[in-house]
Amino acid sequence: MVHFVGAGPGAADLITVRGRELIERADIIIYAGSLVNKELLEYAAEDCEVYNSAHMTLEQVTGIMEKNRDKSIVRLHTGDPSVYGAIREQEDVLERLGIEYDVCPGVSSMFGAAAALGAEYTLPGVSQSVIITRMAGRTPVPEAESIEKLAAHGASMAIFLSAGMLGELSERLIGGGYAPGCAAAIVYKATWPDEKRIITTVGGLAAAGAENGISKTALVLVGGFLDGGYERSRLYDPAFSHGCRKGAE
Ligand code: SAH
Repeated sequence: MVHFVGAGPGAADLITVRGRELIERADIIIYAGSLVNKELLEYAAEDCEVYNSAHMTLEQVTGIMEKNRDKSIVRLHTGDPSVYGAIREQEDVLERLGIEYDVCPGVSSMFGAAAALGAEYTLPGVSQSVIITRMAGRTPVPEAESIEKLAAHGASMAIFLSAGMLGELSERLIGGGYAPGCAAAIVYKATWPDEKRIITTVGGLAAAGAENGISKTALVLVGGFLDGGYERSRLYDPAFSHGCRKGAE
């Protein structure tokens, strides 16, 4: 059995209780070494075999899974495995091999980053949507999802895997309709001890990144939700009734 487990954004105590228990019971762990916090491996049993997938191909990873099909295998991915985790291709191989698997969710770095800033992506009167996207790199992005087209919505955006392309990202966000002065943030290594939070503007992204020496392991957040203005929520408005509370007339 293979358990895909979300390791969380960085801090070791941000893994789920279920994820930690799966690590404790694992015979084999294959972890994404570039971003998973190695402290999590301390939860593993002494005789657990540990592999770092940073140096491995898909075939090598699934080869270990096949060879140990009767053991408990944890495949540890950073954040939540469903976001840029490349789990679908592993699941397909396991299905072909008749090996069972399940997925334990994790705290994505987009939530670690929002927490670091005390920010709320979905502010009433500002935006009620979050766009999760990236710049095209070696992995292409469909044309209909270009930064310009997504920026045109003016929604809150969490942009992954793009910290090395901040100049181009900034230009394309502006090309899509964000004002150069619109608020933006770069959060480097959210929830790690060396976390950096940089508040800037869409037009200032490249300079802010260069000044702070950031070119990887960072999220770019963009949108009015970082600006301060909003309308208070209906849910906690004294005049508003809902299923759990009757409001004042
Ligand atoms: N599944 C992961 C994302 C993996 S893609 C998740 O849910 O978070 C790797 C990208 O995620 C990095 O390039 C960076 O953009 C982002 N990332 C991962 N951990 C991060 C962290 N602690 N702080 C900021 N960005 C992070």
